[in-house]
Amino acid sequence: MTTRVRFAPSPTGYLHIGSARTALFNYLYARHTGGKFLLRIEDTDLARSTEESTRSILDGLAWLELDHDEEIVFQSDNADKHRATAKKLLTEGKAYRDFTPKAEPNDANVKDAIKDRARANQGEKNMRDNPYRDLSAEESDARAAAGEPFAIRLKVAETGKTSFEDAVYGLQERDYQETEDLVLLRSDGHPLYNLAVVCDDIEMAITHVIRGQDHLTNAHKQVLIYEALGVTPPTFAHLPLIMAPNKGKLSKRKHGEVVSMTTYRDAGFLAAAFRNFLALLGWSAGEEKEIYSLDELVEKFSLDGIHRSNAVFNFTENDPRRWTDDKAQWMNAEYIRTMPVAELMPFVKPELKVAKLWRDEYEDDDKEWFENTINLIRQRFFTLKDFSSQGRAYFSEDYDFDPAAIEKNLAKFPDLKTWLPELADRFEPMTSFTEPEIEEVVKAFAEEKGTKLGVIMNGARTLLTGVAVGPSMLSVFETLGKDRSILRLKSQVVWNS
Ligand code: GLU
Repeated sequence: MTTRVRFAPSPTGYLHIGSARTALFNYLYARHTGGKFLLRIEDTDLARSTEESTRSILDGLAWLELDHDEEIVFQSDNADKHRATAKKLLTEGKAYRDFTPKAEPNDANVKDAIKDRARANQGEKNMRDNPYRDLSAEESDARAAAGEPFAIRLKVAETGKTSFEDAVYGLQERDYQETEDLVLLRSDGHPLYNLAVVCDDIEMAITHVIRGQDHLTNAHKQVLIYEALGVTPPTFAHLPLIMAPNKGKLSKRKHGEVVSMTTYRDAGFLAAAFRNFLALLGWSAGEEKEIYSLDELVEKFSLDGIHRSNAVFNFTENDPRRWTDDKAQWMNAEYIRTMPVAELMPFVKPELKVAKLWRDEYEDDDKEWFENTINLIRQRFFTLKDFSSQGRAYFSEDYDFDPAAIEKNLAKFPDLKTWLPELADRFEPMTSFTEPEIEEVVKAFAEEKGTKLGVIMNGARTLLTGVAVGPSMLSVFETLGKDRSILRLKSQVVWNS
């Protein structure tokens, strides 16, 4: 039997972390088992579903490179089939028409009737207490034929329990008495969520339903529908929740952008790194290793490795340096630092283009210089954005100076105001400008001035790159080259400001 799984988002917002993780786990399971990964857009909540949301979900999946098999299913296209299924259950006596009028806010009679019924049950809610549950087929048909509006409800048996083996949480049981006769079809003919999901999962021949743990209760209702239809349910695998740092619920409403996939794309995360991070939110291969290529994830992924305990997304609100999970940031830095430079190029180029720092020579005459420079500066970067912000001084003469760096490395050593231009003069006659020669010149210069080498190097770093930290200063000199090094050492802009 070929595995068939689906990712079934409701298009009522952007793709958030929880959904992206659900999509990834489905994808990995399908690829691991050689099965199919299907996509179903659950757009039946007409008031809240938007095309824009569908687009943003598809964008998010494309960014993460989770390509689906087969055509996308739009749940709303199947409404007729959902209705036909409800009617079939009605005909078979497994569902019934509920003629209870819809209670209008000011419809006192209906409200009273409902209250009376509750009182008669002495506070104990009887889930089977519906006067229409046992209406004869003749009367039910006659009232429907006369045009009386009705909903269709599943006729859940009085005694017994639903039970299924969840691949993550183990045996799940629920007494029938805990579930009401659920509505399958509203009186306006609108099929309800659980019916739609079951019908579509059957139609799409889904073998495994992998989704958030918040759907466990629905799973019991869905099993009831499967039982009524005489169809064996798929294997369920519910995923642990992803919580906020305070262990509260991570919500779109409260945590807004922090949980949106586009935030990470736009902030300069590499899809490969973020995918790796998501994979470890509630799953592990039972080893120390944390960096996994997509192929490795596919190879290692199993439902057994999914955790039961909730995962935590560790962001710090209102702290721009730590606006996202530390681990996500660390992982992104790790990818930026270690991936082959050639593979990083397609991501760096657009970043520099947007910042107007790109030159076509970087792919042509200056290719070697450019690749070496990227390799040099990436060592301390966290996101792709850093190439155009912290890396700016390597690609433009117009870069900013960090006031703290000026204070620490220049202002404290007023001699540098004349020394650094003097150092530039020593560079002038050099015919070869590589690290060993530069080192010789700078060392001799520091000795001559009776100062520490670090004072010269740190001052030069701040003048040449605007910041206090970075790669080895000798490589910075060599990378910027003789002419630009001289120009910047001689510049008095900072001293005059
Ligand atoms: N549409 C549901 C959601 O976005 C998922 C339903 C399911 O996977 O069965 O939460």
